[in-house]
Amino acid sequence: MSAETDTPYRGRFAPSPTGPLHFGSLVTALASYLEARCHDGAWLVRIEDLDPLRESPQAIDSILHSLEAHSLFWDETVRRQSLRLDRYRQLLDRLIQQRRAYTCGCSRKELLAHGGRHPFKCRDGGHAPPERPLATRFALNDEVARWQDLILGPQQQTVNAELDDPVLLRKEGFIAYQLAVVADDIDQDISHVIRGSDLLETTAQQNQIRRALKVALPEYGHIPVILNQQGQKLSKQNYAPALNDDAPANNLWHALQALGQQPPPELARATADELLAWARTNWCRARIPLVSHQQPEA
Ligand code: GLU
Repeated sequence: MSAETDTPYRGRFAPSPTGPLHFGSLVTALASYLEARCHDGAWLVRIEDLDPLRESPQAIDSILHSLEAHSLFWDETVRRQSLRLDRYRQLLDRLIQQRRAYTCGCSRKELLAHGGRHPFKCRDGGHAPPERPLATRFALNDEVARWQDLILGPQQQTVNAELDDPVLLRKEGFIAYQLAVVADDIDQDISHVIRGSDLLETTAQQNQIRRALKVALPEYGHIPVILNQQGQKLSKQNYAPALNDDAPANNLWHALQALGQQPPPELARATADELLAWARTNWCRARIPLVSHQQPEA
């Protein structure tokens, strides 16, 4: 059970398979895993494979293999978003019927030139010149959203109708992250979303989509991202090195330290299972540092 909501705790780790797991994604996976296990909750793994141009099946195998190599064993069947397109289309139709989603043919350049306003007034039923590929966007309401982040504390986010309207279906025909993540968090009954703070700014928008679909909001906890030696977020674009699956205990040791947990020195030679057992008993969310942590030197 979750102390915050009294509903069964269900957490998840939702990687996009754009490359192998790196240290930053291990930290996120570990935090969401420990949070779930400390609440006697379920921990699910969901592969967010909606962009075939950036993803590979090898990356999926490699991510799952890395999680297992680090003894991060999930509950239930791994969900792949690419197998759920019918469900996303159904929700998209619902939002269109409710007039909370609209087709948009404006190019990025045009939107930029108009300060984010849609020159073809798509939101109000206007049309871009024919033959333009169309995206579908969510129609946000103006809002100053406030909520309590489990890790970062009180949050305030300004949401601008029209200017910030997120894409739900991309021009290329691919379902976009904002729709799929909300759909699956709802359908999988996720009660707690623990993820990297690079996604913090998507939260208020996701909550508006949830409200439009008339579902309760989950709790959120955002973990400060891990930086490389140049101060950039670890990511595939910045050539973050793949985790060495042959050194899981060493990786977990550093990941625990990045999360502000201090395993005792006598565990320096412990196995991955021993470290996780210690971490499950001693996990303390309040110790997570609120500033970004640098990746340990190789
Ligand atoms: N798939 C997203 C990523 O890999 C994470 C989505 C989420 O946790 O909401 O960055």
